[in-house]
Amino acid sequence: MINEKPERTPNFIRNIIIEDLKKGKNDGRVHTRFPPEPNGYLHIGHAKAICIVFGLAQEFNGLCNLRFDDTNPEKEEDEYVRSIIEDVSWLGFDWEDRLFYASDYFEQMYEYAVQLIKKGKAYVCELTSEETREYRGTLTQPGKNSPYRDRTVEENLDLFERMRAGEFPDGSRTLRAKIDMAHPNLNMRDPVMYRIMHASHHRTGDKWCIYPMYDWAHGLEDSIEGITHSICTVEFEDHRPLYDWFLEQLDIFHPQQIEFARLNLNYTVMSKRKLLELVQKGYVSGWDDPRMPTLSGLRRRGFTPESIRNFADMIGVAKRDSIVDVAMLEYSVREDLNKRAPRVMSVLKPLKVVITNYPENQEEELDAINNPEDLSQGTRKVPFSRELYIEQDDFREDPPKKYFRLTPGREVRLRYAYFIKCTDVIKDETTGEIKEIHCTYDPATKGGDAPDGRKVKATLHWVSAAHALDAEVRMYDRLFEVPDPLGNKSGEDFKAYINPNSLEVLKNCKLEPGLKDADSGAHFQFERLGYFCVDKVDSKPGNLVFNRTVPLRDSWAKIEKAMKNKS
Ligand code: ATP
Ligand code: MG
Repeated sequence: MINEKPERTPNFIRNIIIEDLKKGKNDGRVHTRFPPEPNGYLHIGHAKAICIVFGLAQEFNGLCNLRFDDTNPEKEEDEYVRSIIEDVSWLGFDWEDRLFYASDYFEQMYEYAVQLIKKGKAYVCELTSEETREYRGTLTQPGKNSPYRDRTVEENLDLFERMRAGEFPDGSRTLRAKIDMAHPNLNMRDPVMYRIMHASHHRTGDKWCIYPMYDWAHGLEDSIEGITHSICTVEFEDHRPLYDWFLEQLDIFHPQQIEFARLNLNYTVMSKRKLLELVQKGYVSGWDDPRMPTLSGLRRRGFTPESIRNFADMIGVAKRDSIVDVAMLEYSVREDLNKRAPRVMSVLKPLKVVITNYPENQEEELDAINNPEDLSQGTRKVPFSRELYIEQDDFREDPPKKYFRLTPGREVRLRYAYFIKCTDVIKDETTGEIKEIHCTYDPATKGGDAPDGRKVKATLHWVSAAHALDAEVRMYDRLFEVPDPLGNKSGEDFKAYINPNSLEVLKNCKLEPGLKDADSGAHFQFERLGYFCVDKVDSKPGNLVFNRTVPLRDSWAKIEKAMKNKS
């Protein structure tokens, strides 16, 4: 039965599949694949593709393969293979036993190439790469036939076999499809199918010294796996005629290529080459630096798979390219963490508060709600004592107008605790710096409400000094200062726009003691501050490290708005 799922946002690929199923095409099968080239880590753009191809397979009771498109030995590595496997399964998708490598099909591809030669549809060419480019013509001018185009089938078979056997140096010969050097689509002007590269491959070692080109290989890979809908990004639209041509000549199972728009996000870069440059030149700590748009970076930053899948749903599937505001991704993780992340109190920039009328050796445990959005998460006890920390920002000796937090003489609420009133400011005699503040508390306000009904204008988070855990907190922000680091007109390199404040390390943070045994990667809302997670790499018992995933509200939107209003 075809499930049209009207509750989901319509998309044109789903519509194509629904039509195909109605017509009984492919015997009602839906089989997609995700075909990364293992030459870098996956990024949020890949996540869009993964959600589309695995999502459609799920929706139509089909299958989706994970296939490494490892046809280029030069930049590919096992490290990338491992990271891709980890990332796709982290996102929540399952390829079951269908993990494939294009390199496993090299022999079969070779056989197909021999078939094309025998049909007079491919030839061995000896033009250099530069000559090949010259002969190709331009968008307005037709190309010229290669002088090697009319070799006999026998000669081509012999030369191709010798190419494989390693008789010729790199770049000296290619196998080309014999199509049409005047074709209006440049991709159809006798495209190269094989090039000679004496390079070791991460899986096939030195078995091969000829490697297939993407356009030749990709359709064959899809056909061999019985892929019904070969879904890719729009830059392959112009390659579709070639994809189809190869499959038609060989008369083998013919998947349908369908293109959708790439995801572009502002305030970041997404090409693997640029990301690699950031890693290699040390602008970031690695592929999993929490500022990177890679899935490993986003994961370490505290993004959840659910938030990324929801984001992919929100942005939808279209044919036309657009730039998505990164605020949407941040919104998505905030929505998700709001539901699941327990609230805790953490002070990032501590200021000591002494409650002078609280007995010296007394302490007590107060009840705090773990998640007001989900009361099933219960309550916890937080210790309270005479000496506490609050945020430096939550106190002003000379408050500006509309500053409602703690100031000399004013009363505020400590969350889940008591009302306190500031009585004294203790300063360093030489520097004048505030060392601590003294307050009194009202024991009648336990739990945070005054029995006489009096109100306060601010509620502050706090931790008990004697009980607090020390931690390092890394405040991450967008990696680039400008929305489009690549689109500048001044010719400035994209790295010139790196946000110098994209990482602020706070080493003297004070956390609620219950965080002592927090799991690696666990998510929390630090009340009033944002969502944070335990850093998976550097956090150790006794040496806690937290990452800020996102602030509570979109501070960028506010800043941008304020700047617009000013100008
Ligand atoms: P990059 O351009 O970042 O280097 P790529 O396209 O070379 O990426 P592949 O490993 O070839 O990376 O991509 C695997 C799949 O992911 C392809 O089907 C590709 O179309 C898709 N993909 C890559 N980037 C994006 C993106 N920004 N948005 C959506 N899909 C993408
Ligand atoms: Mg690619």
